[in-house]
Amino acid sequence: MSIVAHRRVAIVRALVVGVALATAACSSTSTNYVPEPVREAPDLTYALTLESSPKLAVRFDVGVIGSSDGITEFALDEGFGGVKQAGSEFVRPEATDERGAPLQVERPAPYRFIVRHPPGARIALRYTLPETAPKTPFVDSGHFRPVLTSSLLHLIGDVALVAPRHLDSGTRRVIELTFAGFKDGGWSGATSFRPDLDAIRVRESIGAFRHGLIVAGDVDVDVGAVRGRPVAVAMQRGAFGFTADEFAARVRRIVELQRAYFRDDDAPYFLVSAIAIGAKSETSFSAGGTGLTQSFAAFLPPGAAFHVDTDEAKLIDGLLAHEMAHHWIGGRVAVKPPEAEHYWFTEGFTEFVARRVLADAGLLTRAQSIDELNATLLEYHVNPEKNAPAARIADAFWADPNVGDLPYQRGNLVAIVVDHAIRARTGGKNGVDDLLRELVRDAGEGQLVVDTDDLLLRISAWAGADVAARVRAVVVNGETVELDPTTYAPSLRYVPGDPPQFVDAEASPTP
Ligand SMILES: [Zn+2]
Repeated sequence: MSIVAHRRVAIVRALVVGVALATAACSSTSTNYVPEPVREAPDLTYALTLESSPKLAVRFDVGVIGSSDGITEFALDEGFGGVKQAGSEFVRPEATDERGAPLQVERPAPYRFIVRHPPGARIALRYTLPETAPKTPFVDSGHFRPVLTSSLLHLIGDVALVAPRHLDSGTRRVIELTFAGFKDGGWSGATSFRPDLDAIRVRESIGAFRHGLIVAGDVDVDVGAVRGRPVAVAMQRGAFGFTADEFAARVRRIVELQRAYFRDDDAPYFLVSAIAIGAKSETSFSAGGTGLTQSFAAFLPPGAAFHVDTDEAKLIDGLLAHEMAHHWIGGRVAVKPPEAEHYWFTEGFTEFVARRVLADAGLLTRAQSIDELNATLLEYHVNPEKNAPAARIADAFWADPNVGDLPYQRGNLVAIVVDHAIRARTGGKNGVDDLLRELVRDAGEGQLVVDTDDLLLRISAWAGADVAARVRAVVVNGETVELDPTTYAPSLRYVPGDPPQFVDAEASPTP
């Protein structure tokens, strides 16, 4: 169950001066989280070793019983989050049998390693990550690629931890992850499975395990409880204009809001990382993130701060709320491949939920929330790809920025349409929130995997068959989303046009 729930390029918008934002403090208590120990021998091991001489490098040793046909392929997820030539950072692939004798390794692509060995033998594949080049931010998904500098290691498992192809990725297995040389070198860190770099052995599918996060180096790790469960925040030290405490409090406030929204406190542990990517700019703010197993990674510009005189605090909150919502939309409720055909749901509904949760908590003011709504309407209406069908999104999501933006905009508006229809039908008693909570509830202890047809059936049940038919025409065929003029009436007044906009009816002067 490899989940790719990622935000492309989150927010690139000019900063607007003069907007105040109410900061929400959050009390947190420290907790020592140790996952339930798994005692069985591991089926798959990953050992990371930090080497400082002759040069800085991290060595990866992957151990497994090889395929019964004597040919074992290990692979990274080419195309994950738009990453091309995954694995091209890694050098010196070598393989050995259990006595340490060398085995032949072929590498037909940067992301494929093929080892020949006696059938069914225990084998180990080794590869090395040298210090990585400075990244060009948010271009060609550079922020998702492995990062190794003298003070930071940041790894998303899909493009850093190879998977043995002969073991299917969905079956739960015992997987071990160990670190050597990190503590001795003064490196701290955390993973998707515990808030330090101690060895872990978990029972997890290979897909979910590899869809996790490893962050180490000059990193402040702050662990606190949210609704009784530990949430770790790992922040690159000295990179931002806020302290680790301030950032962790902000993160935990948003985790708390999202858990309350989805009415789900089941996650035993959660990690949020923040590292600096890109360059500081006076005129724009570029940030991104990706939702991962029991975690999400946030990428912020150096010096990012919760400035109250600009929109920067709002943009950071928006990013955190979006990525946190992916724990449910895209995570617990995942979509079938091709994923991009379902981004109207996993990205668009996530945008909707992020705005609603922040607005309901007062982290977005009424004016900011109306501005966000109108910005979405405007961006959608000027998008030259606004009538692209689902198949085009699947083809060109990563290649064409307008196509890449479309499911965020279109799906957000579709969520508004569905929400309004449910409210109209139930006299305001229910909304799209209830449909989302129903999906999460149906995921039970595990994961619910849906496609557009499944989602349309739910929409039909909650909002009516006519609404489901309209949504299908939009998300499958690319027809233009039309909002009902009574959406948000009487609080907001709908002004038709291209784009249509909402004005605050309560703030409007009486004629
Ligand atoms: Zn997203």
